[in-house]
Amino acid sequence: VFCEVTVTALAAPGLSGAAVVIEDRSRDEETEQMRRDFVANVSHELRTPLTALMGFIETLRGPARNDPAARDRFLDIMEREAGRMNRLVADLLSLSRVEQDERRRPAQALDLAGLLRSVVTTLNPAAASALVRLELLGADSKVSVPGDADQLVQVFHNLIENAVKYGSSGGVVTVTLEHLTHEPVLRGPAWSVSVVDRGEGIEPQHLPRLTERFYRVDTHRSREKGGTGLGLAIVKHIINRHRGRLRIESERGQGSRFTVILPETIGRI
Ligand code: ADP
Repeated sequence: VFCEVTVTALAAPGLSGAAVVIEDRSRDEETEQMRRDFVANVSHELRTPLTALMGFIETLRGPARNDPAARDRFLDIMEREAGRMNRLVADLLSLSRVEQDERRRPAQALDLAGLLRSVVTTLNPAAASALVRLELLGADSKVSVPGDADQLVQVFHNLIENAVKYGSSGGVVTVTLEHLTHEPVLRGPAWSVSVVDRGEGIEPQHLPRLTERFYRVDTHRSREKGGTGLGLAIVKHIINRHRGRLRIESERGQGSRFTVILPETIGRI
């Protein structure tokens, strides 16, 4: 425990002695440490592509100046690195926006089934090029839930994209929408959306930390797949704002199941 002690002498007429105030500052210290870690992580994540870009600019000015084949190859790499920085900045902005919004409850009614159909349609080409088939179950008729459509699109986009990225090539990713008449934790009716892949899975010790900013099981793999390490942190904040729950179950070598539970009615939000 980190405490701050303030001793003030009392000097009013008819009063003598001192006042002692003891304040527990452990939480402030913890928040400050998290902020410092975050800034250090962001700087590191930005510096990696920047260093690569600067190195290639130098090579293009020097040794590769008169080599068109090398120039094209380096420009491709530079484009990829610039894309990585772009995604990182976009995710940082999303994260800061959803953190600010977290206290405001979303009040609009939206069609969750339609939203899932459109996310799956958007991701179909990327899945197909990774040789993954997307399967959507239970989303044929309209399902009304209170929520922020743009943010929920981001939640399911991130989860399905991860399932494709870390799932098995040639496999299937199954998205299932289900009604729960009584969800025990939310203590009421809810909708559940599960995203299941049959990929490499995640070892149990990583599960509680997956939604931390920049936490990755395999940093090299995530970077190689274009990941920023912020996707699940964004997902967690959006689900919190919707008073929902995120459950992660996984078995190494078997695959993973990410389940989002959203309360059915505005009254429960
Ligand atoms: P990233 O941009 O690295 O994918 P996320 O925040 O979306 O960042 O995910 C954090 C980490 O969780 C990933 O780097 C990966 O190690 C792990 N992960 C996420 N989804 C899956 C999945 N479906 N299967 C296996 N690992 C996953």
